[in-house]
Amino acid sequence: MEAMQITIAHLLPDLLNLYGDRGNVLCMKNRLIWRGIEAEIVEHPMVESFSLSDVDIVFLGGGSDAEQKIAALRLSEYEKEFREYVESDGVLLAICGGLQLIGEYYQSDDESIKGLSLVDAYTKSGDKRLVGNIVIESELPGITGSFVGFENHGGRTYIGSHAPLGRVINGYGNNGDDKFEGLVYKNIIGTYLHGPVLPKNPILADYILTKALERKYRTPIILPQLDDTAETRSHDYLINRFR
Ligand code: GLN
Repeated sequence: MEAMQITIAHLLPDLLNLYGDRGNVLCMKNRLIWRGIEAEIVEHPMVESFSLSDVDIVFLGGGSDAEQKIAALRLSEYEKEFREYVESDGVLLAICGGLQLIGEYYQSDDESIKGLSLVDAYTKSGDKRLVGNIVIESELPGITGSFVGFENHGGRTYIGSHAPLGRVINGYGNNGDDKFEGLVYKNIIGTYLHGPVLPKNPILADYILTKALERKYRTPIILPQLDDTAETRSHDYLINRFR
């Protein structure tokens, strides 16, 4: 049987890549390769055009407000393609500024940046930045336990009727008020967790990889276990700091 293969698109890495976000892409690639699954990362910088038709995982990282504004304009050219990709169960991981970009709009201090409207979420910037380590309890279907990360955002996101990725145990989450963190819609996962988030939360990484493989190969996938001793230690270290 031919080896399975996954293509991961890192969109606008020259604009959207904060606090080690690229580590998520490397983590996904390595966790596939360690299991004998072929994996390729394709980076699409600002000046390049792209297509999502042969992509299995889309990654959007975080960015400053200035970078986000440029990214929003560029991505808006692909709104229809994004919608088709998401509605056909395409996997999309969006971190922080990326999460804000997939929503309806991001209202910064002086202007409103239109998002891709892939989800019914919106974001407004607030006075104080929400910064620090964060622990959330998973709300992902079938996944129990906690996810850890680092957040640093001025924006407050409201996710309407969408399910959150998790509930805040320590930290701020989407807006510092409703205890929701991130959002899940179809195979979109949006979150404020930098860190990067996936190496510290291998269960979340494998959830995303499983969704991508199941969509591509149309068969249930159970990924073989990996030795996650180091990953689990860094996850638990952060949890213990809050105790
Ligand atoms: N510019 C956004 C905010 O501050 C996103 C920041 C980020 O991606 N870390 O809310």
